[in-house]
Amino acid sequence: MLTPITRGVETGQAAKPAWPSMKMRPAAFDPPTCSSEAEGRGGGETAGSKKIRFAEAVEATATSDTTAPDRSQVRSQKGRTTHGYHKILNVTMSCVLVAGDGDEACANCGKQGSDTVKLRKCTACRLVKYCGVDCQRAHRKQHKKACKQRVAELKDEQLYSQGHERQEGDFCPICALPILFPRVDHSFFKACCMKRICRGCSLAARKRGMFNCPFCRAPLPGDDADALAMVQARVAKKDPEAINFLGEKYCEGDFGLEKDRRKAVELWTEAAELGSIEAIFNLGVAYYYGDGVQEDNAKGIEFWSKAAMQGHVVSRHSLGNHEGRKGNYDRALRHYLVSAKMGYEESVEMIKMMFMDGIATKEHYAEALRGHQDAVEEMKSHDRDEAKRLGY
Ligand SMILES: [Zn+2]
Ligand SMILES: [Zn+2]
Ligand SMILES: [Zn+2]
Ligand SMILES: [Zn+2]
Repeated sequence: MLTPITRGVETGQAAKPAWPSMKMRPAAFDPPTCSSEAEGRGGGETAGSKKIRFAEAVEATATSDTTAPDRSQVRSQKGRTTHGYHKILNVTMSCVLVAGDGDEACANCGKQGSDTVKLRKCTACRLVKYCGVDCQRAHRKQHKKACKQRVAELKDEQLYSQGHERQEGDFCPICALPILFPRVDHSFFKACCMKRICRGCSLAARKRGMFNCPFCRAPLPGDDADALAMVQARVAKKDPEAINFLGEKYCEGDFGLEKDRRKAVELWTEAAELGSIEAIFNLGVAYYYGDGVQEDNAKGIEFWSKAAMQGHVVSRHSLGNHEGRKGNYDRALRHYLVSAKMGYEESVEMIKMMFMDGIATKEHYAEALRGHQDAVEEMKSHDRDEAKRLGY
């Protein structure tokens, strides 16, 4: 059942470090691995090799320094509207106040907030306040850049800080432990209940003489048609995981279905709307690579980001690959560190290569190794060890 993982490694032009690039595929792209039990398959861990494309020099973008609203502009604006020494003095004093306690004055006219003047924040960036829509409108042009930058920063803060815990579907519902990667090698995905049962629990059930599904007790499907009927029954009840699973089957033409990538994308879209994180990941792959849908990198990234923030590890790793291809090594590293610590070995490998290429430090690599090891330890159990020992 081992799925071969190939890694495309290619060296860029002499001056550039080698960047290993992997094309992550959803489960649907795996070669059929269904056993006679029609257990269905695991996750999207398989990587096929992909030619490396170093992005053209990425335009240097402003980095993460927080941009405070430009006080000097506030001042000059006020300067224009006031006359006379006292007023200027006044304004100057008010400017000092503005600078010292920026939250309490309108960013455009400098009016202080009070019982009568209610200041409202720019809802996008929450950096500046205005006394009213007129001031907000008047200030829009000079605020736009700082606003946009802050919005991007806020988005990044969420992207990197959320989703450090494995998604619910990654846990075996019987022993409640997260499943090792690649999930397909360490679990059986059940068509009857759409649960991923770890091999330890599956083996333990068999040893007790239980051959039905150890989670829902349904008898095992006799063949692909049986399994498909089970899935269809759940699809009819709008089970998001069943809809996602059916999409994967259409994508690869499994279970006797004719291969239909468009249909797969349709199903994933529906499943994603109903809350399947796996479907969000699959949509990311479909859009990023243009499989069954018009290629749209940005949309692919959006989907992966959404899934990664909900604990989808392969999405997190895919984001790392994307940033690496673009030459955004800092961002790539941040993503890989998260997925490495969630037990994804490929991410550790990437960080190792970055370290060897001099774009990550030894400390980063050590941190990734340690984090990964801890995650793996947490996924161990007596039953799992035994399943592994027996090659079950
Ligand atoms: Zn104002
Ligand atoms: Zn703003
Ligand atoms: Zn288990
Ligand atoms: Zn079941």
